[in-house]
Amino acid sequence: MYPTFRLISLAAAIALLSACSSDGQDAAVEHRTESPPSASLDLQAWTADSAAGAEFWHLLDSNGEPGAVAARLAADGQGLWLLDDKGTVQARHEGNFTTLDARRHGSELLIATAHTASQQPTLLQVSADTLSVRQQLLLNASDYRIENVCLYQDESHNLHLFVVGEEGRGDQWLVGTQQTLLESAVHVRSLRLPLESEHCAVDEQQHLLYVSEESVGVWAYGAHPEAEQSRQPVDLLVPFGGLQKMVAGLAVVPGGLLALDADARQLHRYQRQESGWKSLPPLALTGVVEPERLAVRVRDDEAELLLVDGDDGQLYQTRLDWVPEPSAVSTPATVPVLWPTVQTEPVPSVGDAADDPAIWLHPDNPAASRVLGTDKRNGLGVYDLAGNALQYLQLGRLNNVDVRYGFQLGERRVDLAVASNRDHNSLHLLAIDPQQGEVSELGQIATPLSEIYGLCMAQSADGVLYAIANDTDGRFVQYRLDGSSGEAQGELVREFAVGTQPEGCVADDQRQRLFIGEEGEAVWVLDAGEDAPTEMTQVIAVGGLIEADIEGLAIYQHDEHPYLIISSQGNNSYVVVDAESPYQLRGSFRLGLNAQLGIDGVSETDGLEVTSKNLGGQWSQGMLVVQDGRKRMPEANQNYKYVPWQSIADALQLD
Ligand code: CA
Ligand code: CA
Ligand code: CA
Ligand code: CA
Repeated sequence: MYPTFRLISLAAAIALLSACSSDGQDAAVEHRTESPPSASLDLQAWTADSAAGAEFWHLLDSNGEPGAVAARLAADGQGLWLLDDKGTVQARHEGNFTTLDARRHGSELLIATAHTASQQPTLLQVSADTLSVRQQLLLNASDYRIENVCLYQDESHNLHLFVVGEEGRGDQWLVGTQQTLLESAVHVRSLRLPLESEHCAVDEQQHLLYVSEESVGVWAYGAHPEAEQSRQPVDLLVPFGGLQKMVAGLAVVPGGLLALDADARQLHRYQRQESGWKSLPPLALTGVVEPERLAVRVRDDEAELLLVDGDDGQLYQTRLDWVPEPSAVSTPATVPVLWPTVQTEPVPSVGDAADDPAIWLHPDNPAASRVLGTDKRNGLGVYDLAGNALQYLQLGRLNNVDVRYGFQLGERRVDLAVASNRDHNSLHLLAIDPQQGEVSELGQIATPLSEIYGLCMAQSADGVLYAIANDTDGRFVQYRLDGSSGEAQGELVREFAVGTQPEGCVADDQRQRLFIGEEGEAVWVLDAGEDAPTEMTQVIAVGGLIEADIEGLAIYQHDEHPYLIISSQGNNSYVVVDAESPYQLRGSFRLGLNAQLGIDGVSETDGLEVTSKNLGGQWSQGMLVVQDGRKRMPEANQNYKYVPWQSIADALQLD
């Protein structure tokens, strides 16, 4: 799971610094003053045949590949250099390059660098012994000076490139998938980094991007494309942290991070903890004037370090014991990652705006079915199965929406959508033309709620339609809807409550059961009927696969057994349980970035909806629609993503 930090704005970061200075209680940074290094590292000068003045180095690991020889890469004004550990040049790729990251894939190397003159980030897939180029991906020239680049592979094996630039500029690019470079890079998101950002390093296991801020400290950002733009301090300069003078090169080691303090000539070591980082005593670097850059490889609990002296360019090498703390490298349970195959146009409102979808099924032409999605700041969008926006109704703050069929409205029969309207604490009724799918406003029904929130619909066995809405205080109100007079009316027929804030709810009309989500607690079920008792049974509670908040709920009507799909917002996943007692857990999945189709992954989902109807093509087993809390590739207002049910059934082995 990728980390989500609490948002630290600039102002909050300043507040954090002052908080640290006064009480030193911040979880991530131990408050320390001058702590003299407990020991020093014995450095040996190391000289290469050529490329001796290169500023950028990378230590290649054999990666367990049989026959692969551990070696070194360097980048400078003459090219990219491959050297053996004795410093003898094995191969060169000519050019004028700055910055360097690399990884080995079998007999090939993937090198990330940048052309010095054009400031174009570049990826080269080369032979690991001759550096002959097999594939190349040249990015557009950046409009800022590039300080460093770092590679990152997400859990779906998509390859990303972080570009860290001057003046706080930076970008994340999608550059490859599996082990193949894309034909052109796709912009994932802009990074908002500190002004003095320079060095970067990526911890793939923890999905972290570390960035140094020269006169402030080291920060950790979420590296995952869906991560928030928030950061946590790993360490800060004295008196706020343990760094002494000037942060320079960074390198990730298993379960931790190494950082150079160039002016203090120290190496700092950090162990990743459950929350934050633990500093080990710094090590003095003797004999070097200004240790500026750092390359590391770790084998058998020993880290091999190559340092570049920023003063005269001299290289030094040394070894260091490095044993990760077991807890620090524990990886979260693996959850299958599936892909959205369609996304809707973004909603018109900025910020957290899209919230809850509903699916309207066309009676004869499934491909003409539509998705309704609330824009909780301003109204409701209507989309086709390709994600195109067909309609937008500006109706106010509609939070949740649901759909049912065959509502008698005077002489006419329409399909009905009902949304919870937070501007008026009302049920907002919309007619859907049963043939054309056109959505039009019918009117509102007032409720006694003071903060209307979630909403779902139900239909009794004899066709009566209900709207069930909840209040953030836990109250539920159930309305019987009647349009026989020609005007839509609602009668409050039942009330019940849960103890804390609810939102998502869904009715299983076939079995007349109503599932409701109490966001921080559990999913409950009760009879849906207007006269039925309101006694509730717990379906599943927060814990295990479910991390609060419990958000959207939906029912997949399989021929034999219904499934309940739950948005587990706290861990960006979707949990599937049987919608019948004993509510057996079927598993969970996440939605990753679809590199082939250029669709970003899905995180922080509020509402969702599912249908088991065959909508044709990839939707033959039905379709799941989810709200996406963070739109990337490119960054834009939030939208909805569609997922073929078949992929979920396959991944969770549902029959
Ligand atoms: Ca949200
Ligand atoms: Ca809904
Ligand atoms: Ca909510
Ligand atoms: Ca997303």
